[in-house]
Amino acid sequence: MSTDAGSGSKNPGAVQGDASPRSAAMPSSSRRQFLGGIAAGVAVSTESQAAAVPATATDEAFMREAIALARSADFPFGAVIVADGEVRARGRNLGKQQRDPTAHGEMVAIRRFLAQYGPEALRGTTLYTSGEPCVMCMGAIVWCGIARVVYAASIADMARRIGQIMITCTEVADKTPFLKVDVTGGVLSEEALALFPEK
Ligand SMILES: [Zn+2]
Repeated sequence: MSTDAGSGSKNPGAVQGDASPRSAAMPSSSRRQFLGGIAAGVAVSTESQAAAVPATATDEAFMREAIALARSADFPFGAVIVADGEVRARGRNLGKQQRDPTAHGEMVAIRRFLAQYGPEALRGTTLYTSGEPCVMCMGAIVWCGIARVVYAASIADMARRIGQIMITCTEVADKTPFLKVDVTGGVLSEEALALFPEK
């Protein structure tokens, strides 16, 4: 759960963010633009560390699990962590039950994964979450070396229903020079968003 400035998540499989030369699909072209900027003496920003990648065929199935967890959560957020094509850890928001405001679905799933498999196994995994990760959860995702994040409802969409910190997970990834995180947004976003009451 977090925020998002750009919408565009109505479209299942639509990538979050923009179409600027930050797509990991074309690192060489991005690199060329970067070098071209230097050659021309133009100040250019560094390359983004986040890569917007399209949804895969299995993304919806895993997202359905995350959304199912959200249905029984204290606040409607659920997450699953997938490695080698299998769900290894599940989490749902337990903020009320645990009297812990940091018990977001992603955090619960990460802690369960760590307890069972350890931090080495967490690196390179994919995390599916019914709501775009907030800055806290995205920070944890980065520190754990999770390679890919797939979310349903964007922060911008959720902010119309529930309070959100208006910083996208892509923004957090972009500010992380030591790790590239692939981000896919908008997978089953309408289903996830329907769990929130209208404001
Ligand atoms: Zn969070």
